[in-house]
Amino acid sequence: MSTKYVYFFGDGKGEGNGKMKAELGGKGANLAEMTNIGLPVPAGFTLTTEVCTWYYANNKQFPPELKTQVEEAIKKTERSMGAEFGSKTNPLLVSCRSGARESMPGMMDTVLNIGLNDDTVQALAKQSGNERFAWDSYRRFVQMYGDVVLDLKPRNKTERDPFEVALEHKKEKAGVELDNQLSVKDLKELVQEFKALIKDRTGKDFPTDPMQQVWGAIGAVFGSWGNDRAVVYRRTYGIPHEWGTAANVQAMVFGNLGDDCATGVGLTRDCAIGTPGFCGDYLINAQGEDVVAGIRTPKRIEETLSKDMQVAYDQLNDIGKKLEKHFKEVQDIEFTIQRGKVWMLQTRNAKRTGFAAVRIAVDLLKEGLIDEKEALQKRRIPADDLNQLLQPIFDPAAKKVADKEGRLLAKGINAGPGAASGKIVFFADDAEKMHAADPKTDLILVRRETSPEDLRGMKAAKGILTAFGGASSHAALVSRQMGKACIVGCSALNIDYDAGTLTVGSKVLKAGDFLSMDGFTGEVFQGKVTTKPSEVIQVLINKTLKPAESETFQRFDTLMKIADKHRKLRVRTNADLPNQADEAIAFGAEGIGLCRTEHMFFDHLEEIRRMIVADNVERREAALAQLLPFQRADFAGLFKSMNGKPVTIRLIDPPLHEFLSDAHVESDPKLADKLAKWSGKSVDEVKKRVEELHEFNPMLGHRGCRLGIVYPEITRMQARAIFEAAVQVKKEGVNVFPEVMIPLAGFATEFKNQEKLIRDTAEKVFAETGTKVDYMVGTMIEVPRAAVRADQIAESAEFFSFGTNDLTQTTLGMSRDDYGPFIGFYRENDIIGSDPFQMIDQDGVGDLMRIGVERGRSKRPKLKIGICGEHGGDPSSVMFCHRIGLDYVSCSPFRVPIARLAAAQAAVEG
Ligand code: PEP
Ligand code: MG
Repeated sequence: MSTKYVYFFGDGKGEGNGKMKAELGGKGANLAEMTNIGLPVPAGFTLTTEVCTWYYANNKQFPPELKTQVEEAIKKTERSMGAEFGSKTNPLLVSCRSGARESMPGMMDTVLNIGLNDDTVQALAKQSGNERFAWDSYRRFVQMYGDVVLDLKPRNKTERDPFEVALEHKKEKAGVELDNQLSVKDLKELVQEFKALIKDRTGKDFPTDPMQQVWGAIGAVFGSWGNDRAVVYRRTYGIPHEWGTAANVQAMVFGNLGDDCATGVGLTRDCAIGTPGFCGDYLINAQGEDVVAGIRTPKRIEETLSKDMQVAYDQLNDIGKKLEKHFKEVQDIEFTIQRGKVWMLQTRNAKRTGFAAVRIAVDLLKEGLIDEKEALQKRRIPADDLNQLLQPIFDPAAKKVADKEGRLLAKGINAGPGAASGKIVFFADDAEKMHAADPKTDLILVRRETSPEDLRGMKAAKGILTAFGGASSHAALVSRQMGKACIVGCSALNIDYDAGTLTVGSKVLKAGDFLSMDGFTGEVFQGKVTTKPSEVIQVLINKTLKPAESETFQRFDTLMKIADKHRKLRVRTNADLPNQADEAIAFGAEGIGLCRTEHMFFDHLEEIRRMIVADNVERREAALAQLLPFQRADFAGLFKSMNGKPVTIRLIDPPLHEFLSDAHVESDPKLADKLAKWSGKSVDEVKKRVEELHEFNPMLGHRGCRLGIVYPEITRMQARAIFEAAVQVKKEGVNVFPEVMIPLAGFATEFKNQEKLIRDTAEKVFAETGTKVDYMVGTMIEVPRAAVRADQIAESAEFFSFGTNDLTQTTLGMSRDDYGPFIGFYRENDIIGSDPFQMIDQDGVGDLMRIGVERGRSKRPKLKIGICGEHGGDPSSVMFCHRIGLDYVSCSPFRVPIARLAAAQAAVEG
């Protein structure tokens, strides 16, 4: 039997269903599913993603069996809709839309009104009794087909869409303001002008044969899987290029037949902040693309649709409830109201901001639609999105001042919450370039509307502001997903791309001027506005807000409690100072996974430099003795903050030249003299010693445990500081549990050497003070040899902590300080999927980790194992750590909530 490439839906039954997203794409699968659950869906069919992969593997040709299958499906669609494709009396028109397995809003192409030509347009006019509608549809079709299939696009970044320009001229000539005020004669002329434009610019005639049109559209839709913006989108969101898109050909229904018709996109609840209730955008007497493209600012469903079209509004509300119940998720739908009747064109799980994600998950749980495990699902709340709840907001007092100073410029629709101040940039490619040149410059991308071409620039900007479009416009959708502050439909803004200006009333702002935007309220301010901490931070860290006063905090807290109930991994923090530890505890940290002791040394440079220039043990010990009280006090502070929770203290790690180098000596003219005095040597001798410290490749040099092995007195001093602090704090009645960690060991002998020094020192301190504390001695696993020989190391080490920063650089042979120049290129060209210093390279570094866990536990089955590299706060890496059986992850304080949620997601989703 030949492969089935085409799946029909119509007459209450779909050949596919909602589970077939891999084959039918999200849109196709859900069109079938909606048909199957009895919702009104115009008949049509889906060409599978397999066609797309075949198309790319075979030089953009279609599989031979496809032709007959498409022709048969068109016949079925004709029968279901009671009309005929290409008929001169009763014509069927179709749309052709893309639809990948995961939605990629606006990234690929769509063609509407396929099947129109000079004959069928007459029939459509006669049949609908609305000549204007027929010619308007034809005009739109030629425009869209010209753009999408025949590739007639603006030739440079300031040129406007040539069809739009022709349309505008026509309106000017006719003396009207809106498209729908054009006469039939105007529209007929426009169709001719558009066709001439196509012939002129592309050298091609506009195709009149409906079958040729449909194949052209199918080809363009599959072709759009490979366009730049779709490729960038997939790279950004980790969607595999091999998946391919499906194509959906579906009977047209019309929202532009008259004033009892409309088209819209809706959400079954708000996705900017998560408020319950059906909402969205609609336009009366219009076609779908008008709403999404953001060219006309639509009306709000929740505000006026019930007055404009009561029956359709009720029908939509019912459909929304049915869909939420069925999919157990907030839905983002597309619909058309044709002569008062609702038709469904699409439903998909809605993209939402972090704020909305938390609220919706907690609300759906309360409403009994989902259970706790479902509420935690990664697709509902990507763990990284929790970050949005921790980001600063504008200080209301500063906003008041800005308003008083007359800096409130305008108010638009609040489409993406967050506060952003930055420099105005009008073009996406400029934003991209400016960001690449200086990632620290905050940018606000200001556009009339955004289109999918702007994706890269949107990524580079801190906030996105548009003059047109509603809450479901491209700008709103994409920025919501990116978690950027976004305001759309800010109609008071007058943007002149050519002049590079933004005018509001008498105020003129230029590219590069500062603008501030409050994505919570839709307010736009001239200049900068100061920010203040988010409500969650105000409650947890600053304690300036009570939990009862913040609903945002309460929802966050509910979610965190559920996450804690389900997760298996423990979450610790990387902290060197008591105040960092306190913050981390407020965020839910259960211990310190890494205290980098050298950070304390930077506050006592004089003492450490004395130690470095000393040329014998006695002098070194004397210098170290001066450091001891500082270290002890720091450790005691940490132990007190952690109040019995485990504290992993790592012995000194960086090469000594970080504390004393040529550069230090050159920049401080008195330093060489001081060093000479401290060490009893000549200035020349001191300079020579400093020169000796220089290393060509310090990351692989005299650092980590190699320091403590060559200079055992350093290890002894640090161990003494740890145990004396522990004893002191214990005597004060606070529980302590130090875990002493040896860095960069690769040989069991290295570990044993340091372990002996630590244990001997501990015994001495316990004997001197008459008090014992429980403690452990363990190691970082951060060079490949340590992972491979974890069995030998685990004979002595009581715990492991993967230092994945070093393990990544030593496994990949890629320096974490010098990979900048090529990593961007690697990612752009799909040499490497993600940044290995942010997300664990699971196949390479991850495999070493797996080996480390297995071999370590083969010798010590209960070996405690964690991770303290930067990856400990990255959700996908946290999930990986869960899978390979680690006991805990450790990350920076602000990432603790994210790691808690990711750990729970790993536990419920595997
Ligand atoms: C590591 O290498 O992963 C680590 C945590 O140590 P550092 O970043 O201090 O080298
Ligand atoms: Mg390291």
